[in-house]
Amino acid sequence: MVDADVIIVGAGPTGLMLAGELGLAGGVRPLVLERQPQIRDIPKAGGLSGQILQLLRYRGELERFEAASTAPRPAPRFPWGGMHVDFTQLADPPMQALPLPQPRLERVLDEHARELGADIRRGLEVVGLSQDDDTVTADVRGPDGQDRVTARYLVGCDGASSRVRDLAGIPFPGTTYPEVQRLAEVTVPESVTVLENGDLDVAGVGRISFGFTSTDRGVFAVGSTNPAVLGLFTSEDESADYDDDEPMTLTELRDSIRRVLGVDLPLGEPTRLTRFTFHARQVERYRDGRILLAGDAAHLFPAPGVALNAGLLDSVNLGWKLAAAIHGWAPAGLLDTYNDERHLAGARTLLHTQAQVALRRGYDPAAVALRELLLELLVDEQPLRRIGALMAGSDIRYPLPGHDHHALIGAFAPDLTLHTDRGATSVAELMHSARPVFLDLADRPDLRETARDWQHRIDIHTAETDDRPADALLIRPDVHIAWAATIDEPTDTAALALREALYRWFGTPLKSTVPVIDRPDA
Ligand SMILES: Cc1cc2nc3c(=O)[nH]c(=O)nc-3n(C[C@H](O)[C@H](O)[C@H](O)COP(=O)(O)OP(=O)(O)OC[C@H]3O[C@@H](n4cnc5c(N)ncnc54)[C@H](O)[C@@H]3O)c2cc1C
Repeated sequence: MVDADVIIVGAGPTGLMLAGELGLAGGVRPLVLERQPQIRDIPKAGGLSGQILQLLRYRGELERFEAASTAPRPAPRFPWGGMHVDFTQLADPPMQALPLPQPRLERVLDEHARELGADIRRGLEVVGLSQDDDTVTADVRGPDGQDRVTARYLVGCDGASSRVRDLAGIPFPGTTYPEVQRLAEVTVPESVTVLENGDLDVAGVGRISFGFTSTDRGVFAVGSTNPAVLGLFTSEDESADYDDDEPMTLTELRDSIRRVLGVDLPLGEPTRLTRFTFHARQVERYRDGRILLAGDAAHLFPAPGVALNAGLLDSVNLGWKLAAAIHGWAPAGLLDTYNDERHLAGARTLLHTQAQVALRRGYDPAAVALRELLLELLVDEQPLRRIGALMAGSDIRYPLPGHDHHALIGAFAPDLTLHTDRGATSVAELMHSARPVFLDLADRPDLRETARDWQHRIDIHTAETDDRPADALLIRPDVHIAWAATIDEPTDTAALALREALYRWFGTPLKSTVPVIDRPDA
């Protein structure tokens, strides 16, 4: 007897996104267990950025998130390795952000997942786990005592200190950096005057320069875009172990400024208080039998602005694969591709966030020169686009079979404008259903015929597009291209490769009108 198809431990952004993705796949009963009794108003992420925004657009859900946003989209200019990378010169910046404070984001994701049928139960903590060949059982502690819940799979979306990861015995190797950054906005107190050039004149203290000040103890910065508000920043090395779920206090900020700058800076009322600690960690494997990990439970990055993107995209990659396993048609090895693909994506995010540590922690003239040089390079369009794609996580091309055959295989599907008998549409619109799509771009009945055996699992479309990049595309629900036919590719090679890809990703069809080939072992 199972109580749910999938238990999701943790109703943070990753767990809620996964619940929504399982709901979109249909016919799956996800049960989300969250130890906190309600969504907490802790100021963590300020918004979404990177490729997840594209994905939400392809899901037809971006407007819902935009409606919940608290501010207009900022100019595309982002901190990166102690510099600011400026994409404003590009008409289509590869990196964009949507202001949406994390508690609001979680409310939107919670609402969306519930609409799609997720059962989200708060105030229940998972304290034990066991699994056998068919099921996984969680020991759950709640206000009414301890209970057991059983499901086919369990996904630990329970954050940086993941209990699921520990209970499953999955190592989480990496580095914890001593650097602690604090960022705050406070009203300007009476004893402080903001001078015309941005410097502060502090009664009893004297003048404090606008911008960054390096001291023996760390870095302090002050700036303001609003004359009534001070933006404050400190960065220092500490040995204390902070819990990100415990928000920073004004006293903590004041003490940090005193340590770094050596003065007692009077502070007004805080409107924002955040603390960042930095780790570079990634689990060795995202799966152990029927237990999987996603989000901060699987990876921690030593730079801000990338973690949500990585975690939410984990859920997008995993959702349809888990649903296929629950529905019973998942081909051999499908669930393991979650580990292969998202481990690679996490490693890529670690690469550029660790590079940022080296860049931002240098204050000697050599490090300043290195940053200056990089900024010079980042004025040119090509390096700017490359770094933008890296920041957004959109340069990842999964090394899928056939990867060498066509440049689009493994990549996120481009949003082609499509012309069909029923009018204009786009790849993004076709993906709203979150179902796999076979897209014939060259009126290839030979390939449509092959795809037709899987029509109960995939949507088949025929369309024209200007400068078609391929004769046909097979797009997975996570919007990555599983297979592509080259222009005018002969039927014998194209149909065979298409059939292999269909078996590999979407299993054995219910009934086949073509001879059954050996099922490839993915
Ligand atoms: C100050 C700060 C600023 C940040 N800014 C950004 C930013 O600008 N951009 C960005 O992308 N990221 C940012 N982050 C990181 C971002 O907040 C995390 O990456 C994100 O919360 C991870 O989501 P998650 O769902 O994987 O884990 P969490 O959000 O940690 O959610 C895990 C959930 O699991 C629950 N849980 C834990 N253990 C159990 C258990 N045993 N049983 C049941 N439930 C359990 C927890 O209560 C929690 O609700 C910031 C973080 C901090 C601290």
